[in-house]
Amino acid sequence: MAQVFPIQEGHFSVSSDKEFRVLTSSSPAGLKVAVQPFLIKFDEELILLDAGLGWQVNGELILHRELKYNGLPPTAITKIVLSHLHKDHVGGLGTWQAGVFKLNFPQASIYVQAREFDFAVQQHDNPAYDQEILEAFKHLPEIIWMNDDAGWITPDLCYQVTGGHSPFHQVFWITDGEHAIFYGGDNLPQQVYFQLDIAYKTDYDGKSAERDRLHWKQRAAKEGWTILFYHDLENPMMTYLSS
Ligand SMILES: [Zn+2]
Repeated sequence: MAQVFPIQEGHFSVSSDKEFRVLTSSSPAGLKVAVQPFLIKFDEELILLDAGLGWQVNGELILHRELKYNGLPPTAITKIVLSHLHKDHVGGLGTWQAGVFKLNFPQASIYVQAREFDFAVQQHDNPAYDQEILEAFKHLPEIIWMNDDAGWITPDLCYQVTGGHSPFHQVFWITDGEHAIFYGGDNLPQQVYFQLDIAYKTDYDGKSAERDRLHWKQRAAKEGWTILFYHDLENPMMTYLSS
């Protein structure tokens, strides 16, 4: 089975205009999140699930620093798959430098749901999106445009478009036929979302996300899934015992 490592950029408070600030004891009340892409180690591939904010400390990308701790250069990443295109999921892909978009993981193919992109580039007044980064997508040969509602990225990694949090948000399963590791992106960002049956107003279609969570909760318990929580402050991964 593939190995999974959370690559945490940090803990943040998020303002109503979607500014991320490092969480401190004096942070204002409101949304508090971790931001942690996941590194999936297969025999032949190193895959990132989502790409973080692109947070830096002393000029060094946290994602690069964390990979280095694991003995991995940025060029080791072979694929990056994106659940959706909010800036805290794509900001770590790269930066514009002198008119050129410089990729932080230059050997990686980047998997993007095309319909989500078409929606995202129209969200000019929505601070959840970084239009400068999305602009780069139009010209990058590394982008693999996904057009289907479901399919396989590798023999062990499949996806499904669910919508919910955003119109064409997608979720992922890593499976060896026996065990499943599930990544629900921002449709299941923290463990507490499993405990509370709530439709979130901030989601594009909160009811749909709520229905999906209920369904996943039942399957997780039945099939013993391990679940990856991108924004959980305490437990990035949780294994549910099969009943
Ligand atoms: Zn989001």
